[in-house]
Amino acid sequence: MKAETYPFVMRPLPYEYDGLAPALDDITLQFHHDRHYKGYVDGLNDALANYPELQEKSMYELLRNLGGLPDALKPLIRKNGGGAYCHELYFDSMKRAGWQEPEGKLKAAMERDFGSLKQWKEKTAAAAVGLFGSGWVFLVTDEAGNLTIMTTANQDLPDLRLFTPILALDVWEHAYYLQYQNRRAEYIEVWLKLVNWKKVSRRYDEVYKDERGELPEGTGEADREAGE
Ligand code: MN
Repeated sequence: MKAETYPFVMRPLPYEYDGLAPALDDITLQFHHDRHYKGYVDGLNDALANYPELQEKSMYELLRNLGGLPDALKPLIRKNGGGAYCHELYFDSMKRAGWQEPEGKLKAAMERDFGSLKQWKEKTAAAAVGLFGSGWVFLVTDEAGNLTIMTTANQDLPDLRLFTPILALDVWEHAYYLQYQNRRAEYIEVWLKLVNWKKVSRRYDEVYKDERGELPEGTGEADREAGE
C-alpha cells in the first residue's frame, strides 16, 4: 500500500456503489464505505491530532509498531487505524463478480498451503462463519511466502511484524446486515465470488520477492503434479 500520512484521506471505492450488485447492494456498500469506514479514518486523524511527532508515520508503520506508541494513544490507533487499514484492504479485495482465480506464484502457493482454491474457500468460509462476534478473516503471507488463514476480533490485525494480510473479509454485521440480515453464511458464500484475485496475487508478489523467481522447496511443478 502507498505510504500516506496524517491527515489520512478516505480512499474512494474502486467501483461504483452498485458495482458489486446484486452480490452486495449499493445501500450496503454506501453505508459501509461512507459511514463505517469514514468513522475509522476520522477517528485515526483525531487520535493523531495532538501527536505531531507521529504524523509522519504511515498507517502501516503505526500499526506495525503498536507496542511502541504512547499508552494513551495505543487503543485509539488499534481501533481506528486498524479499522481504516482493514477496510481499505477489504474494499480493494473485491471486484464485480466474474470468473477469476489466483495467478502465478500465488496460485502455486495456494495449492501448496491449502491443497486447492476450493479447499481454501471451504476453510475461509468455516473460519468466517465460526468467528464469534465481530471481526475479520485474512489471508496472510509471511516473508517466506507461506500462506495462512487468520481471524481477528474487532478491528485487530495479525501481527504486522510477522505477517502481511493480502486479502481481508469483513464479518462485522454492518458489512452485510442491510442486505443479508442474520444470514452470515450466505454473505460469505457470495463474497468469496467477489475476490479480486488479480490484486491479491499482485500483493503477494510485492511481499514475497524471491530473487530466483521460484517458490520455496517442495513447490515445483513435479511435486504439484505428483500430488494430484
Ligand atoms: Mn466493516
